[in-house]
Amino acid sequence: MRPGTGRPEFGRVHPLRQRRAMRRLLCQVCAAPADRDDSGVLWLLRDFRGDWARWPDGMGCVEPPVCAPCVPVSLRLCPALRRGAVAVRVQDCPIAGVRGVVYREDFSGLVAVEEAVLPYDDPDVRWLVASALVRELRGCTVLPLDAFAERGGADGEELDLAVRADRF
Ligand SMILES: [Zn+2]
Repeated sequence: MRPGTGRPEFGRVHPLRQRRAMRRLLCQVCAAPADRDDSGVLWLLRDFRGDWARWPDGMGCVEPPVCAPCVPVSLRLCPALRRGAVAVRVQDCPIAGVRGVVYREDFSGLVAVEEAVLPYDDPDVRWLVASALVRELRGCTVLPLDAFAERGGADGEELDLAVRADRF
């Protein structure tokens, strides 16, 4: 809630920012509109192409999309993406559900049971405290990453991220 201060926690996305970026299809780094062309909206994902033949088609995704200028800086700075990433154009990405913690009621009150991803039409969604909005990725085209040229140097990268995040 204090944009521009602190350091990025790549594995812990702010729930309100995630929801806003995902619902409006804003860049998850800088909150500008995500890049879009005739092939669809741009996503930057960990590379799991080995998971199934047409990956990531049909995948539920909690990462919001990105704008093109934020691709190189994300590839350099995000530890998860450094382990292998792909850029993907997504033709259709309906909101599919939410990820969060499911609670149950017992004699002592509400108890957290498990982390889960649930579709909105699942009756248990009423018992879930959501931390992320999920979109399903459909009509995906994997792009070569070298289409997104490196820009800028190593100096001030974290400052760069903090400034970008100001738009949230
Ligand atoms: Zn951006």
